[in-house]
Amino acid sequence: MSDIQPVNEQNNDTIRCRYCGQLNQTRDGGNGQARCGRCRLTLSGEPHKKFAELDKHEYIHPADSRALAALKTIPGIDSALKKLLEVTGESVIRVIFTASAVKVTPKQCPDLYAKLQVACTTLGVDMPELFVQQNPTVNAFTGGVKHPVIVLHSQLIERLSDEEVLAVIAHEVGHIHAEHVLYITAAHLLEALANVAIAAAPIASLVAQILSGTMRAALLAWARRAELSCDRAALLVTQNPDVIGRTMMKLCGGTYASKVDYEQFLEQARDFQKNYDAKALDRFWADIINAGLTHPFPVWRVSEILAWVESGEYGRLIGGEAESAAA
Ligand SMILES: [Zn+2]
Ligand SMILES: [Zn+2]
Repeated sequence: MSDIQPVNEQNNDTIRCRYCGQLNQTRDGGNGQARCGRCRLTLSGEPHKKFAELDKHEYIHPADSRALAALKTIPGIDSALKKLLEVTGESVIRVIFTASAVKVTPKQCPDLYAKLQVACTTLGVDMPELFVQQNPTVNAFTGGVKHPVIVLHSQLIERLSDEEVLAVIAHEVGHIHAEHVLYITAAHLLEALANVAIAAAPIASLVAQILSGTMRAALLAWARRAELSCDRAALLVTQNPDVIGRTMMKLCGGTYASKVDYEQFLEQARDFQKNYDAKALDRFWADIINAGLTHPFPVWRVSEILAWVESGEYGRLIGGEAESAAA
């Protein structure tokens, strides 16, 4: 779009981006169509809340807390994870992505850099490194231990709107804010090893030696639930439940998402909620893990976000009227 351009001084035709603070000149009077020249998000006079001191316990999903507590009761889990990440660790992650992916900076993919800044300033998180990797799998993930790295697959970004890309980045920043990074990195490693091609690698037997079957199962069971907390963090950044819903719909519907009806998708999520059976879902996780899905069950995740908004918790944190999904 070429109807906007950043300017240095405020005048009657300027609007300050509520997300990144950039001053933009608009030709359409900010009618809701113009986008910020820096972060590419929609310009609007609506406020955007930045959380000064957000406590993770204010948004962590109870299923995440329970699964993490269960994980932590396994004897030796912390030392095993520490050992695992010593051999597969941080420097390896950084080397892999620095060698194979595009590093996002203020000059490289600056709109993505601006979105990362928006997510970090909203949640109050130090900026991690962000990479874009050419990969046909629609995915994003966070790894690392002391210095987290976020990786976005190119297919994901190409498929999503600017607001939806913000939601994905915010979800990943949520993993950092929620202090998931050590465990989520270990879980991603296990997921990668579930892939047949990689399972043959020497590292697979090493992992099997370090982590017991119980540890692996508990870690993966927790990782599914950790997603629910980070979807909430993403909502605290986008501040629009529909953006989360549409992002999930695209994760679900793939390239057909443009033809999928969003209202029907929300109905499906609400139906899912009505028939929700946590125990049946628990039994199903093992199969899901074997199928190698790293961000499974978008419909379930949307139903959880709808429930959180409807509980009033989201509105309380945002401190005003929550925009309701498809109200
Ligand atoms: Zn902006
Ligand atoms: Zn995640």
